[in-house]
Amino acid sequence: MTACHDAVVVGAGPTGLAAAVALQTIGRTAVVIDAGEDRTAGTRALAVHPGTLEVLERLGCTDAILGECLRIRGMQFRSPGRVLARMSNDHLPSRFTFTASLPQPRTEAILRARAHEGGVRFVAGRARGVVEDDAGVAAVLEDGSSVRGRYLVAADGMHSTVREAIGVSYEDTGAEAFDDQNMILADVILSGPADFEYINATMGPAGLAVLAPLPGGLMRLVVNAPAQRTAPSDDELQDFLDARGPRPASIGGRLVIDSVVWTSHFQYRHRLASTFRAGRVLIAGDAGHAHSPAAGQGMNLGIRDAFYAAAAVDSALADGGSPHRSETILDTYAAHRKAAAQGVIAATNRMNRMFYAPPPAQPLRNLALRVLSRTAVPSKMALGFSGLLDTGPDVSRADAAPHAASAA
Ligand SMILES: Cc1cc2nc3c(=O)[nH]c(=O)nc-3n(C[C@H](O)[C@H](O)[C@H](O)COP(=O)(O)OP(=O)(O)OC[C@H]3O[C@@H](n4cnc5c(N)ncnc54)[C@H](O)[C@@H]3O)c2cc1C
Repeated sequence: MTACHDAVVVGAGPTGLAAAVALQTIGRTAVVIDAGEDRTAGTRALAVHPGTLEVLERLGCTDAILGECLRIRGMQFRSPGRVLARMSNDHLPSRFTFTASLPQPRTEAILRARAHEGGVRFVAGRARGVVEDDAGVAAVLEDGSSVRGRYLVAADGMHSTVREAIGVSYEDTGAEAFDDQNMILADVILSGPADFEYINATMGPAGLAVLAPLPGGLMRLVVNAPAQRTAPSDDELQDFLDARGPRPASIGGRLVIDSVVWTSHFQYRHRLASTFRAGRVLIAGDAGHAHSPAAGQGMNLGIRDAFYAAAAVDSALADGGSPHRSETILDTYAAHRKAAAQGVIAATNRMNRMFYAPPPAQPLRNLALRVLSRTAVPSKMALGFSGLLDTGPDVSRADAAPHAASAA
């Protein structure tokens, strides 16, 4: 069998699309297989962080993103009565001193357009298995056909068929008390003194309410709601906002939900692939990690995985075929991306511990936040969550050592 493409990418979510564009940008050929699962519902990920914008800039996508997004200065941690601390992007060491707020379908559309411009080939179909030999690897589709490349990037999401086919487990990373929280997401139009500069996380005795601005005057409301089994009504969403959001006196008026554009509810678990590589297959995105949406990191980490997977494939191919060197390059990718995902999960756990402090501990938590707000801690947190520290593995050197990266 001869390899047709440098890489086969399974999955055309943000991770798979970014992998294909990155491969094409560095002069490698890529084919993307996608099962065509419905992706039209909802905004899903809204935050594109500065470290991801830097990666997307190298893929030629940021001009389009900057043309459509809303620029967010950072995140404020509040009690219902006041701002306790502010994690600001203003002084980040990047030309992107903001988080770009853009609905995930728009980020995907920009990546997809770029892939088409670059000549990436798309194949409609569902991969059901993988066959590997000394020269390459083929994704076998449900109709029996196969698509072959030198390497394969598994970007087929959290229920990844490829991950299962190659026998890589997807391990629960250990539940903390808040880890089985049900979350409610709603994109709403608000009237009242809404803050479109910062994401506001309001933590009070009644629970958490996050308000994250989107372009077009929309606001994402996120609340934790144990035992929520059905989509909330508009009145329930308003009740959540009244009970948990900023007190009207603290912001100069009541926030009123005028209309609900989209809503979703789900229960999350923290999961991590046991390894991010098996043979010629590299795992990226939700196929490798799933975590709480608390810090808006899921899609960001996936896009950065994709970029570094493409670099690893390029480096392994450029090597001229020395098996030992290629092995080291691919192992370096795998160790680095697993460490990056572990870093995000740990940071998300720390943030959740703060969000869900039990009511008796909340006065102390609030005092601690106010004290910390006068130190360098918020700047360090902003740098960690920006993704700017996730500079990727050095796959150009065979002896490159993996390092733990990502969110503080
Ligand atoms: C309701 C909701 C809200 C969210 N909110 C946020 C948020 O606020 N912030 C954030 O960062 N993240 C959020 N996320 C998570 C974010 O959407 C994911 O992290 C992101 O989509 C992962 O991208 P991916 O490309 O790795 O996988 P996916 O987006 O899952 O894409 C996988 C792709 O693979 C294809 N596929 C699947 N199986 C196969 C197969 N066997 N063969 C071929 N193709 C296949 C599918 O058709 C799909 O196109 C949210 C998710 C949901 C569901």
